[in-house]
Amino acid sequence: MNHNDPTRSDTPQVRPEDEVVRICSDLIRIDSTNYGDGSGPGERAAAEYVMGELAEVGLEAELLESEPGRATVVLRLEGQDPTRSGLAVHGHLDVVPANADDWQADPFGAEERDGCIWGRGAVDMKDMDAMILANIRHFARTGTKPARDTTFVFFADEEAGGTHGSHWLVDHHPQWFEGVSEAISEVGGYSVTLATPQGERRAYLLQTAEKGIAWLRLRAHGRAGHGSVPNDENAIVRLAAAIGRIAAHEWPREYIASVRELLDSVSEITATPYSDDDLEALLDTLGGAQGFVRGTLQDTANVTMLESGYKHNVIPQSATAVVDCRFLPGHEDDLMSTVRELAGEHVEVEVHHRDVAIEAAFEGDLVEAMKQSLLREDPGAAVLPYCLSGGTDNKALSRLGIRGYGFAPLRLPADLDFAPMFHGIDERVPTASLQFGARVLGDFLRTC
Ligand SMILES: [Zn+2]
Repeated sequence: MNHNDPTRSDTPQVRPEDEVVRICSDLIRIDSTNYGDGSGPGERAAAEYVMGELAEVGLEAELLESEPGRATVVLRLEGQDPTRSGLAVHGHLDVVPANADDWQADPFGAEERDGCIWGRGAVDMKDMDAMILANIRHFARTGTKPARDTTFVFFADEEAGGTHGSHWLVDHHPQWFEGVSEAISEVGGYSVTLATPQGERRAYLLQTAEKGIAWLRLRAHGRAGHGSVPNDENAIVRLAAAIGRIAAHEWPREYIASVRELLDSVSEITATPYSDDDLEALLDTLGGAQGFVRGTLQDTANVTMLESGYKHNVIPQSATAVVDCRFLPGHEDDLMSTVRELAGEHVEVEVHHRDVAIEAAFEGDLVEAMKQSLLREDPGAAVLPYCLSGGTDNKALSRLGIRGYGFAPLRLPADLDFAPMFHGIDERVPTASLQFGARVLGDFLRTC
């Protein structure tokens, strides 16, 4: 321990907001890229860093590996009232790849520039990892207990569906979640700035639902042959036609509860009317966050990869494409039968990976606690529910009956286009936002 650096001190006076920036920067500098094929550096180094930060304040966490290098850290703290059901607070340690040439800053440099920490994971989600870690350290230094028994997890492998992280832990070590009824994690709790007739107003988007995932592979079969001979059973043509039908399909709109409540609330706050057929003006009021919302108005099916053929003058026997499908809660069967129908008789549809859609109510004690913690730091703001078009480790925890929310609180400047930075370039987080988040999360953990 370096006694010259006050943020490394283990004295009770060090608050979470005093060291959250250092921890976030340290984590960004540890490359934990997840390429999805097992070829990356793994999460072990980041996990060992977390273990070290915990050990420094006298906490013994457990480091678990699903495979060599794929490390998850778990720690359970007793709550003020152990008779209440437990809470899980989790982040993931891996990040998606970053192509340094596309960035204005070194993706693993954690450079501080324009009041922000730059780097892969600054938004997804070493920011929240740092807020969690800074608060655990504060609990340990001050002898404070969280309100409820709390299981803290720093997962491996979220960016590849959690096979080596959350799903593995749920399958092999579910005892860590015994008695846990609810969870909080990423992609929610950040602010967007809305224009209202009275001026600007911040709204925090609390994530209460996630679409489900169906990663499908289309395999068209045909008749192989010479490239000079007419062939009406060409696999590539059959695949192309199937892709064309899927792309042209208009998925019916359905407004699930969280989406409807978000749209109604934003409409009221911004005085922007909308109808179910005309949302454009309303979506525009959400700025960069509208992409997330657009993805939650219906099921989606995007073709993302295509493969066939091996010689200019040979008609191949088969052709494949992969489709990234996302479905609203309750829509999985509908989506699958629609895709099969659109694919047609010569194109097989295989499921490569699937995961559930989840939806929790925007009400109850936990939601109220999240709201109050935000409003204590940012009075006058609105707190609204929303559905995430992507997925998080909350899907895995839902298999244990745990209700998951996205609550990684960040008060963001109005001009920071935040949502597109998830998996985007020039990912960065304002240091003031990190400090705000550390305060809100600490308040929440003590009062929830
Ligand atoms: Zn993430």
